[in-house]
Amino acid sequence: MTPNPAAHALLDLPPFPPERTGVLADRLGVILGTRHDVLIVQGEAIVALEAAATSLARPGLSALNIVTSPYGDWFGQWLARGGCALDNLVAEGGLPIALDRVEQALAEKSYDIVALVHAESASGILNPLPEIAALAKRANALLVVDAVASVGGHPLDVDALGVDIAVIGPQKALSGSAGLSALSVSPAAWARILAPGAPTLSALSLADLKHNWLDKGRGALPGMPSALELYALDAALTRVEAEGFQTLLARHRRAADATRAGLLALGLVPFTAPASASNLTSAAALPAGVNIADILQTLAPFATGIGPSIGAAADRVLRLNHTGLNADFAPVLANILALGAGLRQAGHKADLDAASAAVLTHYRPIPA
Ligand SMILES: *Cc1c(COP(=O)(O)O)cnc(C)c1O
Repeated sequence: MTPNPAAHALLDLPPFPPERTGVLADRLGVILGTRHDVLIVQGEAIVALEAAATSLARPGLSALNIVTSPYGDWFGQWLARGGCALDNLVAEGGLPIALDRVEQALAEKSYDIVALVHAESASGILNPLPEIAALAKRANALLVVDAVASVGGHPLDVDALGVDIAVIGPQKALSGSAGLSALSVSPAAWARILAPGAPTLSALSLADLKHNWLDKGRGALPGMPSALELYALDAALTRVEAEGFQTLLARHRRAADATRAGLLALGLVPFTAPASASNLTSAAALPAGVNIADILQTLAPFATGIGPSIGAAADRVLRLNHTGLNADFAPVLANILALGAGLRQAGHKADLDAASAAVLTHYRPIPA
């Protein structure tokens, strides 16, 4: 007897139509503002990042790797593992990279590759990508950008900026599923990737993905395509397109502005200046004498999107999440009110009325 288990929406999916896989890549290309090839990688974004580094790296190449989080540090290690001569340019903890340091590094030495993370969820910073892109272009270096966190939260115009490889994932500002990721590859990046010595027969090989997917007409992904993840990406893109990409960007911008206003009204100091703050998370230093562990414990019952910042001063800097579906009035206000209540409980003054009003100001309809 064959078992007859009940059908399950997550388990009994038909295959994702192969001819729609290339359409997914094209829709991602629109979001990225690129006419470059867009590859879909069957793995979370960290896999696409490792694939980019692994596929580019060769002995004889040099890389300037800007480090503003553990992701940047890993990227450098993968480049070095592939034989690249690596110089890490490490930002001060919890801050974006200083532009003059990038300028100086590129003036002192010639590099084939410049790599950086666009915006960091971990610390709430935004690196000065347009300026760094211009410097990399002038230095004739390939520019690799980890835009996993920033895509949908910050403008990212891959072709206009001259980004050679942009790596993205659906699971942050796009509110999709984490099991697939994607990257755009410029002709100049392809030239490097396909140069002799390319790793092949590897899940990390972009050359393999080119030969087995792009060059074969972008049908089914090589290996076993995950119907579950492809349908989820399709759904996430459909939702983003229905909202409108510019509206999605504006929603993140507004959540960041409202959070900043709320923090200031609570008497807290946002850790990063507005121009270098991410629209994904906001970091704020706690007042002297307030213990971060106590505050986090007080906040726990509210199940808020507040946690310790990752980076310098993690023992006194909190991070408020306003990414994806959390980039909205209710979660932003809940975070600010919970934090205010936590501060009060810790014996610190916090004006919840003023903080609510400050958040609300950003969500009032603009009068005609
Ligand atoms: C989230 C994130 C990644 C990758 O995350 P996974 O959850 O491993 O897919 C990479 N870089 C940055 C900057 C991120 O925020």
